[in-house]
Amino acid sequence: MRALRLTAWGEPPTQTEVEQPVPHGAEVLVRVEATGLCHSDLHVIDAPPGALPYRLPFTLGHEVAGRTLALGPDADGVAVGDRVVLYGPWGCGACDRCAAGRDNYCDRRDTLAWHGAGLGRDGGMAECVLVPSARHLVPIGDLPADQAAPLSDAGLTSYHAVAGLRHALEEGTTTVVIGVGGLGHLAVQILRATTPSRVLAVDVREEALALADRSGADFGTLVRADTADVLRKRSGGTGADAVLDFVGTTQTLELAAGILRPGGELAVVGSGGGRLTVSKPGVLPPGFRLSLPFWGTHPELAEVVALAQSGAIHVETEQFPLSAAPEAIGRLRRGRVRGRAVLVP
Ligand code: NAD
Ligand code: ZN
Ligand code: ZN
Repeated sequence: MRALRLTAWGEPPTQTEVEQPVPHGAEVLVRVEATGLCHSDLHVIDAPPGALPYRLPFTLGHEVAGRTLALGPDADGVAVGDRVVLYGPWGCGACDRCAAGRDNYCDRRDTLAWHGAGLGRDGGMAECVLVPSARHLVPIGDLPADQAAPLSDAGLTSYHAVAGLRHALEEGTTTVVIGVGGLGHLAVQILRATTPSRVLAVDVREEALALADRSGADFGTLVRADTADVLRKRSGGTGADAVLDFVGTTQTLELAAGILRPGGELAVVGSGGGRLTVSKPGVLPPGFRLSLPFWGTHPELAEVVALAQSGAIHVETEQFPLSAAPEAIGRLRRGRVRGRAVLVP
């Protein structure tokens, strides 16, 4: 079968032929219908040797939807032909966190040579993907594959980040979303669908602000010298109750910390490599709370799928054949993708 594999650090991934895997034990083989292309794939492709614990080569693709094709003899709770989305952050499978479907915070995460499907383990940018256990699958019914695949990261990570802030997002509050790409446009929709908070969006691209508007944001603005003042005014003068940063550079972290209301919440999702210095006393708002959410839990993925099935959230996608992965990667790099790029084998 065809697969897009990372074979050397610092080099672009290559399209190669690999053996179609055969499921053993509790494994499940899934025929891929669609796989999302995430900005994290660019971080992985660009990583210098030694930066990530992954062993090469492996197949990229951590946002995967498809249909189960074959089951190992011990595979449980799934039938051949089921349509599923993959829960991607595979943990050790043995700790309390994994047992509770919280592989994203697996107790052995620091000792694993992978973060999940397509991140150190063979993922979904291929015709088929081998899943270690049916516990990593969530049924999607007849949800179109291009909708379902991005839910497993862009949707789930946004949902999990919002879930961590929900206690602070009552009626009359304001949330700022920085970076309205694959994750951010779903975060705007999830905020609108699950909280009464007013949503303000920030990006460096006009098209992203148009996407924020279509996603239900109350207001959008480009990053400029006066952005902090504009956002403060739009938050009723007090500052934002919460900021979701889907970029994570020093510039966006400083913007975020500068517009928070006392007692405000900052969730940093973007892996932009920025730094924010926390000191007390210091310049951060009193009561400031910082979280670094990673991906999401299995039960949350089922909730995101249910939201999509109800029509409350919709992924804007641009589809590419798997053979055009280099073009999709190039467009994501240049900020030319609207919503999520999805590869179809
Ligand atoms: P994307 O490229 O689809 O979207 C990023 C958006 O940010 C774009 O609209 C871009 O124009 C905007 N942007 C870039 N620089 C900006 C700036 N300085 N100010 C405001 N906006 C800016 O990326 P994505 O796939 O949505 O991923 C977003 C980030 O989240 C990436 O860093 C990715 O690695 C990370 N990520 C983290 C997790 C996690 O679990 N924490 C999961 C998935 C992705
Ligand atoms: Zn991702
Ligand atoms: Zn574990």
